[in-house]
Amino acid sequence: MLRQYELVDRVLDYDPEADEALLNRAYVFSMHAHGSQKRASGDPYFSHPIEVAGILTDLHLDDETIATAILHDTIEDTVATPEEIARLFGPAVARLVDGVTKLSKIEAQTETARAAENLRKFLLAMSDDIRVLLVKLADRLHNMRTLHHIAKPEKRRRIARETMDIYAPLAERIGMYEFMKEMQTLAFQQIEPEAYESISRRLEQLKIGGGDKIAMIASGLTLLLTRAGVDAQVEGREKHPYSIWRKMAERHISFEQLSDVMAFRAIVPTVEDCYRAMGLIHRRWPMVPGRFKDYISTPKRNGYRSLHTSVIHAGNARIEIQIRTPEMHAEAEFGVAAHWAYKDKVKAGNQTSWIRDLVEILDTAASPEELLEHTRMAMYQDRIFAFTPKGELIQLPKGATPVDFAYGVHTDLGDQAVGAKINGRVVPLKTIIENGDQVQILRSKGQTPQPNWLNFAITGKALASIRRHLRHTERDEQLKLGRKLLDDIVHRLPAQIGADALAHALQRLKLPDEPALLIAIARRTLSDAQVMESLMPGAAGGDVGHALAPQKSAISIRGLTAGVAYDLAQCCHPVPGDRIVGLRRPDAGIEVHVITCAVLSELAERAESETDWVDVSWGETEGAVARISIEVRNEPGALGVIATVIGAHKANIINLRLDNRDTGFHTNTIDVEVHDLPQLMRLMAGLRAADAVNAVERV
Ligand code: MN
Repeated sequence: MLRQYELVDRVLDYDPEADEALLNRAYVFSMHAHGSQKRASGDPYFSHPIEVAGILTDLHLDDETIATAILHDTIEDTVATPEEIARLFGPAVARLVDGVTKLSKIEAQTETARAAENLRKFLLAMSDDIRVLLVKLADRLHNMRTLHHIAKPEKRRRIARETMDIYAPLAERIGMYEFMKEMQTLAFQQIEPEAYESISRRLEQLKIGGGDKIAMIASGLTLLLTRAGVDAQVEGREKHPYSIWRKMAERHISFEQLSDVMAFRAIVPTVEDCYRAMGLIHRRWPMVPGRFKDYISTPKRNGYRSLHTSVIHAGNARIEIQIRTPEMHAEAEFGVAAHWAYKDKVKAGNQTSWIRDLVEILDTAASPEELLEHTRMAMYQDRIFAFTPKGELIQLPKGATPVDFAYGVHTDLGDQAVGAKINGRVVPLKTIIENGDQVQILRSKGQTPQPNWLNFAITGKALASIRRHLRHTERDEQLKLGRKLLDDIVHRLPAQIGADALAHALQRLKLPDEPALLIAIARRTLSDAQVMESLMPGAAGGDVGHALAPQKSAISIRGLTAGVAYDLAQCCHPVPGDRIVGLRRPDAGIEVHVITCAVLSELAERAESETDWVDVSWGETEGAVARISIEVRNEPGALGVIATVIGAHKANIINLRLDNRDTGFHTNTIDVEVHDLPQLMRLMAGLRAADAVNAVERV
């Protein structure tokens, strides 16, 4: 374990301005906080944060980051509080420690491997300061280095899997290639122990062939090229076991067939030198057929340029050689970022450039300050991430609500949402979700999206779904209302209409189809008179510009607020004197029924609540329309007799229709306007008394 002065000296070594006192305070505080806690290895727990800090000194990070590393587990694992950290180490360190603590909590929440990609994005989003992520990665790297101390194989494998799926790619993404390789090697060892063993053994055997083979081959290559006048810088490396294994698996080849166990790179001044170097190499060692690639004349899609070849070196070892200019080399380094962005199907336009910048900064930053100045995470700043109860991550724009979340999970879930719980507490659907919240949507099968959701939903998906649904509902209701009103109008026509009357009406009104007519009627963009006139020219009596005086205006009903629209139900045709009740309908005001109406009792069962019912009674009346059916003998003048009786009782015929006719009798349905029930009763008695009339009934 690093001692206090060793750690401080390391930092002062690359940053003489570092706050020595801060580092010393952090060291002592963490040591006391972790006290006698032990690691699985039996070491004092405190050794872990110190090693993590040590890893970060290799990256020459600033004093605040190093202090954060020393303190990174104190809030999660000891009695230390965020307030204490802020008081003792200042707001900057407190914020960083808080960031690392949050990442650790999230890490503990997510179980499924399929959430890995989302979790990577989430970790990036949470690390609004890249130093948080660097501490987290160093933390993970140290845990991987000490993984073998953990007794349970399942736990070791789980941690290794997580490292492979989440942390190694994260390290790669921000350009920490060394972290990535070490994590992959350590994880691979746990996940595929046999493959790891056999590949490592082969690599050992290669080395036993004679000292440091890589260095030997590299100097041989350099000699070959410089002697021929090509100024070359050659570096060689051994592929790490995981990347060898991945290549073997991808290409379905054996270790012997692999030519990439050792890889060399020659950097030469010009493009001409590249081809000259290649010629020299191919003349010296036989090339492996099919392995030569000229990415200079034909660059890769991401712009990568280089010559690749494999040769059989010294009669046995296959080696891979890349040849490129310094410009191509620099491009290739940034190209990794471009490649990453391409592979991830990243949509955010600035993300690639952000990674480029970061890679460039990590490669070229002259000082830690310069590094940190540039590395606030610009990416994902307008995004938040929330969890489903199962731990799945949902990515949303900032300001999103549970409605957005629900639609983000599934359209059905959005449509049927009735409420939400955030972190276990019931909240209104318009609550704004915070990064890292766990959101549970309460749903109910029969529910539909509410119009007021449009006021707070912000994702395109949610808004589109809500609007689509509302449009449908509104249209359905208008069609229903239009149908009802059209039936009404047809009833009021002086005669029955033919089968093609509707088609003619549509033509006259210049409407495309029946639904268009129904909607025009429902919205009152067409007056009743206009519709009547189109169905039966002349029927509206020439006064087509205005709707006929609606029958309902002729009466008044107590118990209704002035101006509330109501209709007398077409099923029971109440007349003044009838006992009546009002039913509130969402599409067309209030419908007044006779209290004994059969349709009404049916509606009563379907009514949603008490408030749908309105108490009404007749007020001062000027008349109402009643519908009666009269069975008349089929003889000349019968209709004249009926008209006379109605006239004698001072009632008006509003509408008359012949319902059915047989040889002896026919039935007429007549709408008559009367003042009140007694007048109607007298009229009906008078009709029954007439010779031609067989029967009279209220409809
Ligand atoms: Mn830790």
